[in-house]
Amino acid sequence: MNITHLADHVWKRVAKLLSGELNQSELVWLASPHRHMALLTRRRAIMIVNRVRLFALLFAILTPLWSLVDLVVFPFPLWFNLALMRLIAAGTFASLLLNYRPSGELFDAYRAMALLFAIPTVFYVASFTVLSHYQLSGISAAIGAGYAFLPFVLLAGLSVFPLTLLENLAIASPILIAQALAGSLRWSTLDWPSFAGAFWLLVLITGVATLAGMSQLAFMIALVRQAIRDTLTGAFSRNSAQEVLELQFTIATRSDSALSLAFIDLDHFKSINDQFGHEAGDKALVDMAAFVHENLRQGDMLARWGGEEFLLIMPNTNLEQAQAALQRMRSVGFGKRPDNTPLTASVGIAERAADQVFNWKMLVDLADRRMYLAKQGGRNQVVCTEGEE
Ligand code: GH3
Ligand code: MG
Ligand code: MG
Repeated sequence: MNITHLADHVWKRVAKLLSGELNQSELVWLASPHRHMALLTRRRAIMIVNRVRLFALLFAILTPLWSLVDLVVFPFPLWFNLALMRLIAAGTFASLLLNYRPSGELFDAYRAMALLFAIPTVFYVASFTVLSHYQLSGISAAIGAGYAFLPFVLLAGLSVFPLTLLENLAIASPILIAQALAGSLRWSTLDWPSFAGAFWLLVLITGVATLAGMSQLAFMIALVRQAIRDTLTGAFSRNSAQEVLELQFTIATRSDSALSLAFIDLDHFKSINDQFGHEAGDKALVDMAAFVHENLRQGDMLARWGGEEFLLIMPNTNLEQAQAALQRMRSVGFGKRPDNTPLTASVGIAERAADQVFNWKMLVDLADRRMYLAKQGGRNQVVCTEGEE
């Protein structure tokens, strides 16, 4: 067993411990954000910004309040300097709270976090510089020493964010490196054992906060999956399909790329229920979804739009490609009826650019209309235009 195998093995074990509810493909999502599906990214970005704002509110209130404690224990000039810095920090926290709204973009979420962490970091460096000019003793020394705990608070604060391993390390390592640098700059006067002890504690806190953040993420992934899937077929639910469509439509419009949508309605489905019972109907739906899932390209999404109506969302797929894909599925059949005859469907396809539609609702309407034309034309067919089959 070589090193990468071993690392892979250890990683899988650790990830399993974090949540038994994740499947194999979801486990990698705990490591880095690269392959997260768009819906998860969006919800995570919103959650991160909301937590940043919650923290900003808390700190905007608590930071200036602590001045009362400083007032009692510190000599006036020191208190005044610190109070001024606290006011500035509180003001920055407040403006972060007031000016930041969740956009659903991960980049915005990263920036919000960076700002949230930057404010206390600057405050920490500034307060340390000011405090180093004073020889404090007794209770003032104790309170003064308290200022050194800010990095611990920062790293522990990481635990409230649903972050991947990579993101946690990206945020924690600058803080740890800065701490190590600060120590080595004072190396001649440094009390090494206590510095090493404090540093080790920082590393431990980082580890615990990282685990906490990742288990939050694991929980979130499981919840998002449950919320976005239809329980019978495993396809996306109608609600999440709307969210996906809105998102994909924006992306496709921005990059002027193709976005195809197939409206699939199973033919004479009611007769399955009528002849073989509702459970047989359910099984046909499950089989149909499984069949389409097997034939999906990476990035395609199947959603259950209503009873026996499905949407197939195909990003970066033009009308011809979408038509070819659906014709291929149609020629095999969308599964079997209980009497072993093929289960057929009527399909309407629309594409964003070719059909010149302006929003996702128009895309669905158009595909729906063409599906209806396919029904009128005798069912078991794919329609991509208004006039012909
Ligand atoms: P057409 O070819 O015109 O589409 O005929 P159809 O029978 O498929 O269409 P219709 O809309 O008349 O009937 C759809 C049926 O799908 C009615 C409903 O009982 C059934 N259905 C909807 N949801 C479910 C479900 O979750 N399970 C089962 N077993 N049947 C369902
Ligand atoms: Mg039908
Ligand atoms: Mg129908």
